[in-house]
Amino acid sequence: MKNITVLGAGESGFGAAMLAKQKGFNVFVSELDSISEDIKSILVKNLIQFEENNHSFDKIALSDLIIKSPGIPNNSEIISRIKSTKIPIVSEIEFASNHSNSYKICITGSNGKTTTTKLIYDILANAGLNVGLAGNIGDSFSKMLLSGDKDIYVLEISSFQLDDIKNFRPNISVITNIIEDHLDRYENDFVKYVNAKMKISKNQESSDYLIYNSDDKILSEAVNNLQSDVEKISIGLNNKENQITISNNILSNKKKTIMINTEHFALKGRHNLLNAMAAITVSDLLKIDNEVIRESFLTFSGLPHRLENFLKIQGVNYINDSKATNINAAYYALDSMQSPTVWIAGGVDKGNDYSELLPIVREKVKAIICLGIDNSKIIETFKPVIEIIVETESITEAVKVANKIAEKKDNVLLSPACASFDLFDSYEDRGNQFKEAVRSL
Ligand code: ADP
Repeated sequence: MKNITVLGAGESGFGAAMLAKQKGFNVFVSELDSISEDIKSILVKNLIQFEENNHSFDKIALSDLIIKSPGIPNNSEIISRIKSTKIPIVSEIEFASNHSNSYKICITGSNGKTTTTKLIYDILANAGLNVGLAGNIGDSFSKMLLSGDKDIYVLEISSFQLDDIKNFRPNISVITNIIEDHLDRYENDFVKYVNAKMKISKNQESSDYLIYNSDDKILSEAVNNLQSDVEKISIGLNNKENQITISNNILSNKKKTIMINTEHFALKGRHNLLNAMAAITVSDLLKIDNEVIRESFLTFSGLPHRLENFLKIQGVNYINDSKATNINAAYYALDSMQSPTVWIAGGVDKGNDYSELLPIVREKVKAIICLGIDNSKIIETFKPVIEIIVETESITEAVKVANKIAEKKDNVLLSPACASFDLFDSYEDRGNQFKEAVRSL
């Protein structure tokens, strides 16, 4: 019997450990932090050995295979030590794939992964296909496989999950865009981050497809440089060569077997059009009926914390876009605003260059409410174009100030362009606290 060590006991590690056990391996879980009580009790019940607050190298070194959770950086001490041995390391997504015969549709990118993944899944599920949803979006692929395989899986994949793939091969891969993000994990080297994202296509063959956003110059260049037989399909708003084009609000494919009117979309914004184009391209490849696609878009109302139209109070729209943790996401949120906007922004910035937002802020924003511990960069950048900039110390205060400034028909938009960890546990916590503060107005 093979010995497997799973490094990390979060969502991915836990799933991988359970799947490895189910497949008959001898499993040991090693977590440098503490392990949640719930997970510990399930591991005990399943006779899976584990350790927490430690990585015992001597024990780990007895393994035939190491499964690495995506949260563990490649430059961590334990990984360096394992690399000095001959023990192979695989990522959770690869391990799971080795135990699935499904057709795999895999989505990566800097922004838009979750939305695009869920859109594709909904369309395929509405078409009655035997399809599963997994990866970064919820349950890990390994955990999903515990209850059996499906015909098709739609998987949201982060660049961290791609770091250690060797044979992982999506039948269809989608790359939504590539912008500077998470560079701390890539030695502040953007090229390394781009290469990590491109790995999604590394093992794809001539019968596979790579769908990518050709409006994104960096991504286009990376795709053009790919030495691969994969069939490349571009999407985008600017290129007439694209598979799906938009004219007079109608999204259509070349053969006109798909014609979708975007006027009735619940999803707003140019970025969501790109997400829709990706989802329609996948649906077209799988020959899904136009009616099913159309219905799916009518009923898809978006996901929480992503341009979520939350409440209208005295004519003012309150919009929760807490998931906008970088400049690019905030740009698209501001771009989609149709009336004057009070913009709540700030938090932990990962080296943001706010000047990229100057034109759109000048056009759309009437006041900025800063919500972060250090707001100096935001104030400095936007002082020349925005008269009202207010610093606040809590989300309740930020919402109250926004409410005072906003007039009928205005928007109050939380789209921070920053991570949330200075004042909140997570972007979900930030979005939920925003909604609570709005409800209490
Ligand atoms: P991810 O899973 O990649 O983080 P999400 O779908 O959760 O992407 O969206 C994250 C943030 O990015 C939200 O603020 C959302 O409005 C914005 N967004 C969604 N799709 C795109 C896109 N294609 N380009 C830029 N921003 C996007």
